[in-house]
Order: sequence, then structure tokens, then C-alpha cells
Amino acid sequence: MTKEELWQTVLSQLQFKISPANFATWLKNTYVLAKNDGIVTISVPNNFSKEWLENKYHKTILQILRSIDESIRDASYTVERSAPVKKELSPPAPASDQLELQGVSTHRITNLNPRYVFDNFIVGPFNELAHAAAWAVVQNPGTVYNPLFVYGGVGLGKTHLLQATGNQISQEAPEKKIRYISSERFTSEVVTGIRNHTINAFRALYRDVDILIIDDIQFLAGKDKTQEELFHTFNALHEKGKQVIFSSDRPPKAIPSLEERLRSRFEGGMIADISLPDFETRMAILKIKTQERESPISDEICEYIASNIHRNVRELEGALNRIIAFWRLHNREPSLQDIKSMLKSVIHNPNKMVTPKKIIEAVSEFYDIKEKDIVASSRKREIVRPRQVAMYLFRQELKSSFPFIGKKFGGRDHTTAMYAYDRVSKEVQESEMFLDEISLIRQRIYGG
Ligand code: ADP
Ligand code: MG
Repeated sequence: MTKEELWQTVLSQLQFKISPANFATWLKNTYVLAKNDGIVTISVPNNFSKEWLENKYHKTILQILRSIDESIRDASYTVERSAPVKKELSPPAPASDQLELQGVSTHRITNLNPRYVFDNFIVGPFNELAHAAAWAVVQNPGTVYNPLFVYGGVGLGKTHLLQATGNQISQEAPEKKIRYISSERFTSEVVTGIRNHTINAFRALYRDVDILIIDDIQFLAGKDKTQEELFHTFNALHEKGKQVIFSSDRPPKAIPSLEERLRSRFEGGMIADISLPDFETRMAILKIKTQERESPISDEICEYIASNIHRNVRELEGALNRIIAFWRLHNREPSLQDIKSMLKSVIHNPNKMVTPKKIIEAVSEFYDIKEKDIVASSRKREIVRPRQVAMYLFRQELKSSFPFIGKKFGGRDHTTAMYAYDRVSKEVQESEMFLDEISLIRQRIYGG
């Protein structure tokens, strides 16, 4: 059996053991470089693949290799290609008082911020699918996942991931025309185009790109003209095999007043979610951020932050910024006591933080309905469901009594509240999509 045949056999078996997204991402462009003394050396295209294969798939790969050839003892992975000069890890030296790094300017044409790269994007269970999908897009723009739709709550890395994807493509294929834009700006360009009769120029610009990245697409809710432009732009690009990437704070199904045809376009590619980072990932993020800032912060402090801030990567960074600021100001490392008082306002004590008001706000904002409608007695379908969700969350998060909930929501009696609670509980168990929806709302309740 030649090396090629060996690897082909491994791949064909691996294919059944891992998800297509991961397979496409991590095993593309891999091959067996050498087989000596029972050690198989596998060439991989980059360090991400190397790490991923080593950490995640090594056992499986080795098992398959051994099942084919008993003399194989081990496998190793190597990045063979003469690696391109590695980009600076840290952002262009921030001025000492400029913690937020807002000064890093975006690229004039692509609109990308060079600070957002894969190198400083931590991957954990909470975002690995989205990361794998983005990486697959980098390697095969316009073909594998088109569009790629990434969704997740505030401050969880959507913008970072989308921009990293753009930056990486631009690095690997500088000839590609890339455009990153927020959906608000996209909307305002449409409006200006219509008003100033320059819509043709707008169309020409957007239909001529190779990679179009639109961030926070949920803001297009209810913007009919913009949705229409986007629909045609998307079709034009898609037909030509150009890559489109979207982000949103919720899945396409949960975006209110979104044209059906656009929704079905969003759903026609790959939908990947980002959920909440686990403790290890939070630690890893803090570590990489302290490295970037060249501010050594003790493990004890990192652990304290990571254990107390769960819901949002942006807040993790915010906490770090405050600690660094303290350090600079007082010229000493803050004690744990200092940290506790510094972070009082960002650290959530869930029991203290949830209030009826917050739940009602979060639910009505999420479903784009008025707060007063949710607590009134309207029986309109678009109100009834969000109301049931709110009732469910009252019970779950506040442990409110059913009579209280019934009264709060339109003066109903406790059976209505119980019914709503049971119904939503049942649906949460049956539909993963719906469970996602609820957890996005929870993120809003606690995050904002
Ligand atoms: P979103 O667009 O989802 O609201 P952002 O992409 O703006 O979130 O992320 C908020 C902050 O957290 C950014 O500074 C970003 O660099 C950082 N961040 C988010 N996710 C990660 C991650 N996985 N690894 C490293 N930094 C992250
Ligand atoms: Mg964002």
C-alpha cells in the first residue's frame, strides 16, 4: 500500500467518525509525508489543523492507522509548507492609556480591522463549530458553506470571527475583493443610494466583491427596502460562487419581520452558533489577552475573573482593562480585595440581577414587540408566544408563583400561567432551535 493509499483509506474511515464541517476544515490538504520506523508523519496545511488533529483526532487517527497496518506505532503532524511570515500577534503597540485599542484603524477598502485575527481567537466547545465553519470558508470561499450564518449573543466573538475570516482570506488570497460591513451601515448606504439616485453604483460595488461579510443582520428586521437589496445582492453573488457571511444575535427563524425569501437564503447554507464559553475557555481568553497587553496577571486573579464572569467575552476583557488601569495607576498589582470591589458592577449575582423588568425588556426586545403589549391581554399570535416565553422565564429565573405570573401578564388566573409554563417547557425539550432561542434571551437578561 502506498502512502497515498494509506491516507485515502484513513480519510474514508474518518469521514464517518467526525462531522462534515470538522472533516472539511481539519483534513483538507492533509497527506502522509513519510512512514518510517512505524511512525507516520502527516503533513497539515497550518498550525490550527496541527493543533486540532493532535488534540482532538489523534487517537482516532492512530486507531484507524493501526487497524490498517499493525506495524504503525504512532503518528505525528507537521506543517510542511514553508510557513508565511507570521503576523505580529499583538496589536500595533497601543499607547499606554489606550486600553481599548480603538485606535487601530480599519482597512480603507475592505473595512476590516487588522486586530481581529485567528491567532488571537480562542476556540473552545462553545464556538468550535462556528470556528470550524469559518475556517472551511477560508480554505474554500464560495463553495463549502454559502452563505455562512453565525449567530450568538452579545460579546461572544461574532465580529471577531467574521473579521478574522476576512483578514485570513485577504492574507492568503490578496487578489480577492473583500468587504466587511455592519448591517446598519449597509442599510444607510441603501437609503442614501435611493435618495441620491446612486443605487446603481451601490449595486455595482456590492455585486463585484468576492467575499461579502455583513455583521449583525438582525438589525435588518423590518427594513424592507434594504432586505430587498440584500436579497438581490446575495443572489448575484451566490450565482457567481462568491462567498457571503452573515452574523446575527439569533438564528434566522427568530429574526422578526424578515422576508421569507431572505430567511430561506440564510438557511440555505451553514448555520453555526456560538454559545457561552466554559471555564477553561474563559481562562484561555484571559491568558491570551494579558499576553497581548503584556500585563502579567496572576493566575489567582484570572481564576477569580473567569469564575465570576460567565456570559460574555467582552466583559471578560472589560474586567481585564480595569485591572490593568488599576495597575498603571497604583503601580502595583491589585489584591484580590481590590479586584472584588473593582468588579462589583460587572460581576453577576444571578439572583440579584434578574428582575421582572429585565425579563420583560429582554423578551420584548428579542421578539420586537412592545413591552406594554406583552403584559396586556391581546390574543394576537405574535404577542401570545412571546408572552408565554416571558411567563416561562418568570417561573424559571424568578421562581415566581403562578398566580403572580398570571396577574402580571394581563390579569389572567394561575391556570393560564401554568399552561404557558408547561407548554414552553415541553417545547424547549423538543426543539433545540427553541432552546437556543430561550438561551439567547437569557443571555440578554443577564448580559445587558
Ligand atoms: P460580538 O460581535 O459577538 O458582540 P465581539 O466579536 O465584538 O462580539 O467580541 C467581543 C470582544 O471579545 C472582542 O474584543 C473580541 O476580540 C473578544 N473575543 C470574543 N470571542 C473571543 C475568542 N473566542 N477569543 C478571543 N477573544 C474573543
Ligand atoms: Mg459584533
